[in-house]
Amino acid sequence: MTKILPVTEDSLKEAKSLILKGETVAFPTETVYGLGANAYNTVAVNKIFEIKGRPNDNPLIVHVHKDFDISALVDGVPGYAKILAKKFLPGPLTMVYKSKGTVSSAVSCGLDTLAVRIPSHEGAQRFLKYVGLPIAAPSANISKHVSPTSAEHVLADLNGKIDLILDGGVCSGGIESTVLDCTGEIPVVLRSGLISREMVEEAVGACGEYVYKEGGVARSPGMRYKHYAPRCRTEMFELSEYKKALALYDAEAEKGVSVCIICDADGKKFVGDRKYMCLGSKPEEMAANLYSELREGENTCELLVVISPGEHKGVMAGVMNRLTKACGKRYEN
Ligand code: AMP
Ligand code: MG
Repeated sequence: MTKILPVTEDSLKEAKSLILKGETVAFPTETVYGLGANAYNTVAVNKIFEIKGRPNDNPLIVHVHKDFDISALVDGVPGYAKILAKKFLPGPLTMVYKSKGTVSSAVSCGLDTLAVRIPSHEGAQRFLKYVGLPIAAPSANISKHVSPTSAEHVLADLNGKIDLILDGGVCSGGIESTVLDCTGEIPVVLRSGLISREMVEEAVGACGEYVYKEGGVARSPGMRYKHYAPRCRTEMFELSEYKKALALYDAEAEKGVSVCIICDADGKKFVGDRKYMCLGSKPEEMAANLYSELREGENTCELLVVISPGEHKGVMAGVMNRLTKACGKRYEN
């Protein structure tokens, strides 16, 4: 029922007609695949929540073409945001502004702010240009499952639930965009990603980081939820605890459980002849591999033993945020 088509004139035509009819379309971006709908159409936006099983207090990001004038959507873009937009957009950075209330209130779940993103992926840009509308889109997966970084991942979650997946290949970024609150005096990172806090700080001199406190009011409501979890048991260990990780692997394997280790290049040195997947050695490489390895792990194993790369700085803050959430722990950020 669900078609996967490469991004061509014909598929874009089909995508546009679906969007104008109030349906959803999955499309590629440089971070993960998105499930898009016309941001002006409340019925269409609500379909996204239904299809994903997404809690209705977790707001969506609006995606626009690089030439779209965002003053149609938001108010009060501060000077630092203009500098950041010039430096990092199009790219994996979502900026939250005061909303003008022109898109459906279902997009922001009633908040008076709006998250806006200009993706750099060529397929995403072609789709957004062809459709010519702001597109509300979260990741194109079932809520709380691992985000999709290929058209096949989208199909595995949403087959039969949507009409069309535009296939733009494997996402190069691999983790969701950095979400930056641009409503205050200085920008504040609400969700870490490939544009790190340090990069923002270097560009505009200051950047805060929002830390969600259990039970508190979340400035980025998505933070309250467990996310990105594979469908098999997952246990995480620090690199310094690698002996415990290997003992768990051996004990479970002995019982006949199929186990796989996920580690980085440093952890790989300890795994011996056990089954493993290596995320890589550079943060960007680890981000790009993370979700496809978690999905491969859940499809082929009963237990994933994660030996943590452990660093929380720069781009690794984003990788560790997703990895920790995947392992069932609520990350501090
Ligand atoms: P997803 O599209 O699934 O990657 O999730 C979008 C993320 O952006 C979630 O963590 C949301 O909480 C966050 N977000 C979207 N809109 C807003 C907003 N207006 N204010 C703060 N965070 C937002
Ligand atoms: Mg998501």
